[in-house]
Amino acid sequence: MDLYEYQGKELFRLAGIPVSEGRLATSAAEARDAAAALGGQVVVKAQVLTGGRGKAGGIKLAASPEEAEARADEILGLDIRGHVVRKLWIEQASEIAKEYYLSLTFDRSAKRALYMFTTRGGVDIEEVAAETPEALVRLHVDPLEGFRPWQARRLVYAGGLTDPSEQKQIASIVERLYEAFVRFDAMLCEINPLIVTPGGEVKALDSKFTVDDNALYRHPQIAEMRDVEADDPLETLAREKHVTYVKLDGDVGVLGNGAGLTMSTVDVVTFARGRPANFCDLGGGGDAQGVVDALSVITRDPKVKAIFFNIFGGITRCDEVARGILQALSEMTLELPIVVRLDGTNADEGRRILADAAPANLSVAPTMLEGAKQAVELAA
Ligand code: GDP
Ligand code: MN
Repeated sequence: MDLYEYQGKELFRLAGIPVSEGRLATSAAEARDAAAALGGQVVVKAQVLTGGRGKAGGIKLAASPEEAEARADEILGLDIRGHVVRKLWIEQASEIAKEYYLSLTFDRSAKRALYMFTTRGGVDIEEVAAETPEALVRLHVDPLEGFRPWQARRLVYAGGLTDPSEQKQIASIVERLYEAFVRFDAMLCEINPLIVTPGGEVKALDSKFTVDDNALYRHPQIAEMRDVEADDPLETLAREKHVTYVKLDGDVGVLGNGAGLTMSTVDVVTFARGRPANFCDLGGGGDAQGVVDALSVITRDPKVKAIFFNIFGGITRCDEVARGILQALSEMTLELPIVVRLDGTNADEGRRILADAAPANLSVAPTMLEGAKQAVELAA
């Protein structure tokens, strides 16, 4: 689960990482009031779950409450890479002398948390990694040992910081970031930029915070931060129905059982020169209700022109899935063509059940590739 900047900053604040004072606003009038309450110059920041807001015109300085209102009016409703701005974070503006970058992320291949630090902050970190990889300091944390103070010193010295006050403040933020990462079950904590003010004060000017979905049950207050309105409505529906669904932007609806098979199906549809509309994993069940739920999610996407149902029966029996498909078709009006490939446990019986019922819009394919080709043709 990705958090908004203001939510991530709240977690930073709880962890003792310095951030600026701010207020949330959902209208230009609220932005003006927030600016008046904060006093002085403020920065009006679009709250959207995507980066690069600054470049997209989603971050603006304002010298007075009236100006904050005007800037808020410009930013609200702005479309930033497909995300419409509905919320603003109004923050006391900071003076910036230097912009650094600090993050802690989960490095799956190393099975360890990974720190990255560079004094070339503010810009795209991918750019730094590509153009000046030597400027990006990387350091893993052994989860059994936990964080060790020498690690903060290593990052700070290897990053080339020479000012003792900066070294001390950043070393402390490095340590607190690890505490926040563990305490809130984060997958990513990124501060870009981590600034130094002209007065030598270090603070987090931005926050990118991702919490492990599987740990949300331990953090009800974070789970509540989820902004249902901003979610893709199909993904919300899928979550409610316990269907594993990821929207893609093609026109062939893909339904498989098991994540591995479903991913392979997405690949095979692409191999057959088609464009998958989604990734939908029926899971281990495959009972009628599961099929109805999955189909009701997939068919809600108007781009879907054909559906490829790819089932490998293991514990899930193909006859059960075939009955589920027929029941689903009897319960919902579905005119889209469906191609079904069944293999594994009770596949013959499953195919016979489908052949006997013979719904007009359903065809059975002998292999995965054949099924994918048929579905791609039907979608064209
Ligand atoms: P992003 O573009 O989505 O990464 O948003 P950031 O929060 O990182 O802001 C982008 C840029 O806006 C920063 O790198 C700063 O240069 C500028 N910015 C943000 N907040 C302030 C502020 O309080 N004062 C000043 N002077 N600039 C700011
Ligand atoms: Mn940023």
